[in-house]
Amino acid sequence: MSGERRTAQSARKSTGGAAPRRLLDEPVEDTPPPQLLPLPDIPAQAPGVIRCGLCPMPLRSNPDPSQPIHHFLALCQHQFHYLCYINYISTTPPNKRTCCPQCNQPILTDDRYWVFVTTNSGSECYTDITKDVEDRLSVMRLARQQILIDVLAYHRNLSLATVLVSGPNAVDVNYPTPTGGFTPLHLFAKANDVTGIDFLLSHGADKELRDDAGLTPVECARSSGAWDALQRLT
Ligand SMILES: [Zn+2]
Ligand SMILES: [Zn+2]
Repeated sequence: MSGERRTAQSARKSTGGAAPRRLLDEPVEDTPPPQLLPLPDIPAQAPGVIRCGLCPMPLRSNPDPSQPIHHFLALCQHQFHYLCYINYISTTPPNKRTCCPQCNQPILTDDRYWVFVTTNSGSECYTDITKDVEDRLSVMRLARQQILIDVLAYHRNLSLATVLVSGPNAVDVNYPTPTGGFTPLHLFAKANDVTGIDFLLSHGADKELRDDAGLTPVECARSSGAWDALQRLT
């Protein structure tokens, strides 16, 4: 074990499991997260084939040329294929997403996903992948929300809808669409769908939220002539 790795682990121990503010015990300056941190103990020195912490494939196999990043090394020194990790966080509850899937230790630096990446062209550097992670989560959130809308509006399966809005990875019933800023309640209000409205209201939907045009679900119902919905919402 290298001195660097010991430093990272002892730093974590001393903060009771919280992610250390810096990877190394270097002088801390009042600057944003560094573009390039000192290199970690790269397990290239380790014997044998290095495998991804999430799939059985060797780490350096199957590069996907459509992705700039091939794999990365987390703060805890575990390594993952980039796509394996992105898929993992898509289905993982928020309280687990910021921890290593293998050792459960926090992997954020300064609240961001600063990881040591190996690109598909073979170069290695520290990179902040937070935006990629958030973009992927946003896509997944919308996909899950669409499933909830379909289950409610077309299948009328309230038990399945209840499952979707429950648990640690529940659909956020107030998440707005990227275009228009409509929450599910806006959509069901416009469609005059009282079953959906009743379900959403009893599972935390906020009827004060406004879409991109500044309208609440009540105002949407009124402007759409959705009188049953209007009655339910007022
Ligand atoms: Zn993998
Ligand atoms: Zn780990």
